[in-house]
Amino acid sequence: MVSNTAKVDPVWYPWLHHVTDEKPMTESFMSVGRVGTVVGEDSFGNRFYENNAYPVPNNRWVEFFVNLWKDYDSTQIESEWLPWLHHVSNDNPTTHSSVPDNSNGHTVEGPEDTKKQVEEVLRGGELSIEDQHAELDNREFEFETPTADHSNSRGDFITDPVLEAIESAEKQKITSPRSKTILVFDVDGTLTAAGQQITPEMREFLIETRKRVPLAVVGGSDFKKVTEQLAGHDKDLLLSLFDYVFAENGLLGFKGTEPYPVQSIQKAIGDDKLQELINFSLRYMSEIHLPVKRGNFVDFRNGMIKLSPIGRSCSQEERNQFVIFDRENGIRQKFAEELQKNFGKYGLQFAIGGQISVNVFPTGWDKTFCLQYIQDQYDTIHFFGDKTAPGGNDHEIFADERTVGHTVEGPEDTKQQVEDVLRGGEDL
Ligand SMILES: [Mg+2]
Repeated sequence: MVSNTAKVDPVWYPWLHHVTDEKPMTESFMSVGRVGTVVGEDSFGNRFYENNAYPVPNNRWVEFFVNLWKDYDSTQIESEWLPWLHHVSNDNPTTHSSVPDNSNGHTVEGPEDTKKQVEEVLRGGELSIEDQHAELDNREFEFETPTADHSNSRGDFITDPVLEAIESAEKQKITSPRSKTILVFDVDGTLTAAGQQITPEMREFLIETRKRVPLAVVGGSDFKKVTEQLAGHDKDLLLSLFDYVFAENGLLGFKGTEPYPVQSIQKAIGDDKLQELINFSLRYMSEIHLPVKRGNFVDFRNGMIKLSPIGRSCSQEERNQFVIFDRENGIRQKFAEELQKNFGKYGLQFAIGGQISVNVFPTGWDKTFCLQYIQDQYDTIHFFGDKTAPGGNDHEIFADERTVGHTVEGPEDTKQQVEDVLRGGEDL
């Protein structure tokens, strides 16, 4: 049986809906026999009455159009009338426009009009538009060339000691010969906790380390995500922290601030095969049963497709829940094997990536892809990553003969192992 407010006398609505704690004085104020002025009528034909001779809340009531005795409920009232009827507001649709009064709202006719109206608002405020521009220019100026007082134009994210360390590392780069060793790091689970941003301590550790040895970072994620995780969305800060930055395993890369040419999966595989793979995957994932499913099951990138059975728009909590479920049921392992069986012939590889995805990419487009840019510059390449087991997205570069691989359990462990390597007195 569905319960609703049918068969409730309207005189009880304010009490029932917590508008008041006062119960109506039942006998004398039941709607029968009340006399008042009609203040309006809603589109259903219900009529609204007011008589301020009665005490609040009984001074307002409704008489239903279909006046079957007590066979009515509040869903038969046009919602615009409810605030007035329940004393939430003294405005009713007849005394007041149903368009909400929002003096801070602006109706615009398009981008040009938006611009004009914004300028008008700013002119009315404390800063003229010229002042606003001037302030923005100053900010950009500070941003490009940090001044002696380091007035923290990058916000709280970067502290003065960090800025000093960057400057000193830059100077050192110019004055001292480069080392023969480079340290290459994975991002997620290695420099940061899974899915999280780097801590200020970890960033300072990198800056200190870079005074002794060049650093590179190779993330499986796209450049935006890598920047977000390591530098709070600040691309320039990110590029200033490492000698090389590689996103999407190096399909998109920088040496200093110089970008390498970008590679793409559709160029390599072709759209017919790509679509066959995507269709197969959507069909396969549609038959998996999980505790929950969300959205964004196929994430298409330059050099990789991320297939996520739960969907990449899940919350952190749902993500954690999936990790446990996946560990117990081997969801991604089975999916990756099935993909390998059907599409390995196209020169594609399948690896369990991060916490919720299976990564698909052309063979050799794993993290070893980035090595082509550094292999000739250094004698020893140390790699630190958390997913170094077969099937993990660090496995290939970890096992590659061009690198010395290190398996880490998280940022703290990374720090420890870097210190061990540096203490080893290797010829840097
Ligand atoms: Mg990782």
